Formats: sequence, C-alpha cells, structure tokens
Amino acid sequence: MQTKLQYVTFQDLNLNTPLYNALDDLGFTTPTPIQAEAFSVVSSGKDVVGIAQTGTGKTFAYMLPILKNLKFSNQENPRILVLVPTRELVVQVVDEVEKLSKYINTRVLGVYGGTNINTQKQQIAQGVDILVATPGRLYDLAVSRVLQLKSIQKLVIDEVDVMLDLGFRHQLINIFDILPERRQNIMFSATMTQDVDELINDFFVTPERVSIAISGTPLENIAQERYNVPNFHTKVNLLNAILQDKERYNKVLIFVGFKRMADRLFEALDETFNDESCVIHSNKTQNYRLRSIEQFRNGDNRILIATDVMARGLDIDNISHVINFDTPDYPENYMHRIGRTGRAEREGHAILFSTKKELDALERIETLMKMEIPLTEIPEDIEISTELLEEERDKIKEHYNPLKRSDEDAPGPAFHEKKEKNTKENLGGSYRREIAKKYKKPKTRGDKNYNKRNKKK
Ligand code: AMP
Repeated sequence: MQTKLQYVTFQDLNLNTPLYNALDDLGFTTPTPIQAEAFSVVSSGKDVVGIAQTGTGKTFAYMLPILKNLKFSNQENPRILVLVPTRELVVQVVDEVEKLSKYINTRVLGVYGGTNINTQKQQIAQGVDILVATPGRLYDLAVSRVLQLKSIQKLVIDEVDVMLDLGFRHQLINIFDILPERRQNIMFSATMTQDVDELINDFFVTPERVSIAISGTPLENIAQERYNVPNFHTKVNLLNAILQDKERYNKVLIFVGFKRMADRLFEALDETFNDESCVIHSNKTQNYRLRSIEQFRNGDNRILIATDVMARGLDIDNISHVINFDTPDYPENYMHRIGRTGRAEREGHAILFSTKKELDALERIETLMKMEIPLTEIPEDIEISTELLEEERDKIKEHYNPLKRSDEDAPGPAFHEKKEKNTKENLGGSYRREIAKKYKKPKTRGDKNYNKRNKKK
C-alpha cells in the first residue's frame, strides 16, 4: 500500500481551486503519507481511526477531505466539531484550518477553558462552521444552550491517547450523548493504548483504520547518543555542562516524565540559565504555557522543559537537540520525543540519560528501534553526586506495626466520600462541627494526614 501512495499528488485528490491556492500559498507540493492514505477513507463518510503523530501532517489529513466536502452555509450552528486535549492544540489546529481555508468562506472558532466563557458565547452566537474545542469547555458551552450541537455531522477527536491520559474519558462520553447519533466519527491517535482501544470498541461503528509505519523506525537524520548517569543531581550537573555551549545547543527541548520533575529540573537549571529556560506542563496556567511556548519558538529562550503529554501537541521547528532527562517507560514515547528534532531534512540530535533503574526501559527502546544507542562516557570534570532524591533511595521496609498507620493507609477519598454522603442525608452533628470550628481541629484523621503530607513537600 505504501508504494502505491508514494505517487499520490494533491492533483490526484481532486481538490478544488480554493484549496489548491491555499496549499500553494503554504508551499506544500505533495501530500504526506497519512494525508494520502486518509483522504478517501475520511471522504467516504465511514468512521475512521488514524494512527499518526504530530508532525506527520495529520491535521490536514482530516481537514483536507472535510473542507473539500463542506458546502457553504450561513446557518449558525457548527457542523464540524474537532475535540483536542489541550488549549495549545486548539490554537494550533485553528491556525492550520485558517490557513487551509484562506480562500473558502468558512467560519472557524477555537474555544477552551481558563478564559472568559462569555466572550466565547458571543463568538458562537455569530455563527460557526468548524468548532475546535477542549472537551470541558465544549460541554459547558453546550449545557448553557448557547451552543447547539444538533447540526454536527462530523466529530474529529485528535490526540485521543493524550485525551484519555488526561482523564477526559468521562467528558467525551458526556459529549457523545448530546451529539446527533448520525454522524461520522474521525479519530486520530499517536499511539494505540488499551484505553484508546476500549473507546473505539464502545463507541465506533466498524471503523476503518489508517496508519503509517512510524513505530520502530528511528528517523535517519537524528544522531542519537546516551549517558549512564547515576542519579538526578548528577543528571543536573551533566545537563548544566552540556548546555554551556550556547551556539551548538541553541534550541533544546528537554523531556521529563512528570510535572513535579519538570518543576524540579526548572528550578535546578534556573541558577545557571536564568533567562534562557522555560517550562510547560498541565498544571501551569494557560497563559504561562502559551508564553513559554512562544518564547521558545521565537528563540527568546533556548531551553524548554516539557512533559510528554504537554509536548505532544506542540509544533516547533528547528529544535537543535532533544534531551531525554529520563528514560521513558514506553518506548513509543522515546520515538515521539526524538521526532521533534531533525525535521525538514535538517540533522537532529537526541541525547538520553539513564540511571541504573532505567536500563530496562532503555532496552525496550533499543528493541523497538532495532538498534543500540551509542554510549558516551560522562566527562571527567562532571561532579558525580551522591545525594539522592527521596524516590531514588531504597525504601526501608518497616516491621508491621498495627498501631502505626502509614500515609498510604490513611483514610483517603473513600473516607471523604462516605462523609459527604452522610452530610447530605443528615446535617446533624452540629455540636461536633461547632467544637471543631472553635478549636480549629482537623475534621478527620484523613485531613490531618493529608495536611501533614502536604506540609512536607
Ligand atoms: P501536523 O502533523 O498536522 O501537526 O503537521 C505538521 C506540520 O506539517 C505542520 O506545520 C503542517 O503545516 C505541515 N504540513 C502538513 N501537510 C504538509 C504537506 N503536505 N507538505 C508539507 N508540510 C505539511
């Protein structure tokens, strides 16, 4: 199938003049493999599952056939709904659709949470054809009845894997409930996970799958190297040394697996590279994230620290180096990470740090790529730290003491849940509440442990 597609041109897709003109303006001459493969399937009106990552041209893979077939209408309600997991992606998809529909009379609107909902209500009231949204805000707008979804013909869910990762499954199902039953479902995901599979099986009608071979094929123009580094602090020391060469390391995307690690590393780096680095993860405010991305994109900051989930929606060119501060558990994530450098025929560079505990993950990556990543020795002048983070220390097992309850055993959500339920039924216990207020005592042991735990951080 791949060989046949190599010869597909935009002319073969039988587009229309406004679309050809827009593609001309963009300087795009040939469809990317996912665009060539998805076009007829999306056009057919069947449910589609596309496996493609950011950077493969997946946005146009669904937008080209949609725009080609979208008739002019001046009705107010949107006909196409694109759901994406993050605000950044809303902005990016809207931007792409606007470029592609430059010569078509199509109204595109992006809506996302964390901004004034009333402004968005006013924009919706003016009429929309294609609505790009994050699930939470979409649902809020729909229940407020300002947004009518009864005319939706096509639902696109982009980056489904990230969406489910962020815990949006419930919201997606709520949205499915209020959409017209007769619609085309188009879904794009960078990876297939169990969650994604379940969602497809539960809500899609015998979808056609389109995918391009990406997993396991490291991009040939990426030079990879790796270091064995004993712990976090030594990783910071090595990273600080590497980043000294500002000319060579001029646009560096540093990946970490978790939000907390992103902040921790940002703080650790800040001392040396105060004005040169920025950070994004899903706990940062939308403005903060947009600002960080912009500063990195335009070169004001040469270092961006990001978590996997946040960085997957980003589209930034000319990244000189991807540094994997940790070794990702899922080898596909490594592929996604390094795919950010070495784009557009330029040579890219990827560096990987692994502790001893991360060597199993390294093996999985190398197996997937069917190649070994060359090992570079840590330079001698790098200080090898012996200081360990709490999670790096071996846990000392305590003897079982029934009188001492560990934090993990403390009454957690279930305890609260029950209490909340009880308060609904019986608002009594006023005496206890009064006393608690007077003495400012924690209401439950759960709270106490929780507070204690938080204080430590
Ligand atoms: P995406 O995977 O949708 O995030 O697209 C990645 C980048 O490729 C975007 O900057 C697109 O504008 C660009 N792009 C999309 N289609 C093509 C094409 N046929 N030729 C060249 N670049 C493209």
